[in-house]
Amino acid sequence: MASYQLTLTRKQVVAEGTLAFYFEKPRDFSFKAGQCARLVLNDPPETDGEGNGRYLSLASAPDEPELMMATRIRSSAFKRVLSSLEPGATLTLKGPYGDFTLPDKAERSVVFLTGGIGITPVRSMLLQAIAEHQQRAMTLFYANRRPEDAAFLDELTQACASSSNCTLVATMTQAQQSSVPWQGEQGYVDQAMLARHLDDLKASLYYLDGPPELVAAMKQMLSQAGVADDQVRTEEFAGY
Ligand SMILES: Cc1cc2nc3c(=O)[nH]c(=O)nc-3n(C[C@H](O)[C@H](O)[C@H](O)COP(=O)(O)OP(=O)(O)OC[C@H]3O[C@@H](n4cnc5c(N)ncnc54)[C@H](O)[C@@H]3O)c2cc1C
Repeated sequence: MASYQLTLTRKQVVAEGTLAFYFEKPRDFSFKAGQCARLVLNDPPETDGEGNGRYLSLASAPDEPELMMATRIRSSAFKRVLSSLEPGATLTLKGPYGDFTLPDKAERSVVFLTGGIGITPVRSMLLQAIAEHQQRAMTLFYANRRPEDAAFLDELTQACASSSNCTLVATMTQAQQSSVPWQGEQGYVDQAMLARHLDDLKASLYYLDGPPELVAAMKQMLSQAGVADDQVRTEEFAGY
């Protein structure tokens, strides 16, 4: 698999405990919205059992000028070193990998079900589809504990508001713990919530991603709602 040297240009807090890392895009690197890559530290001062790299989704859309990846900062050696890097630092990117991507034909409506850091590949797919004025209808159900935890929520809300094909349903499972007032949906995504926002639960392709427990729960919920397995695509963020 191809390997590229990346230069960090900036990093930004995009939610509580969550950093986005922006890189110059190597000239010969291309990817499809929704794919991931392995981001590897060059000569890190410490390492851990998982090694010097992690699979991270490419959260930027292919048409955006920079590459961007985002992650929850936890106490692993990889994340300690990654979060301490300053602009100008170089890293290695291997990839792209994966087929968690939208079908070429845009005729079928798509529903994204995700939560927390699972938003990363969805951000890429959704912004790319909007930028290309794709005709497919897209609905994003995006679950977080609190608005403070919801990376890219404002940006995606604005992007969806600018497109007649996109609906964003954000839901908070611990809204009462937030210092920000929340007017939207609350609680986990369930069949009743889907039915409030979708005309026909069985008509769409579903994209589920994020921590394995979340993906498993969503898959079970869709199966109980009568959605056929071949309408459901999943990507698990192993390691969460
Ligand atoms: C296709 C794919 C795409 C992915 N995309 C993304 C992405 O866009 N963004 C992203 O952040 N991650 C993504 N991941 C997950 C990512 O690869 C890492 O596994 C994840 O970020 C955890 O890395 P870590 O260094 O924090 O923990 P690791 O050191 O890798 O964790 C190893 C184990 O220790 C446990 N652990 C470690 N630290 C803690 C802690 N503080 N508290 C509790 N348990 C802990 C974990 O549960 C895990 O079982 C993706 C994974 C895959 C397979």
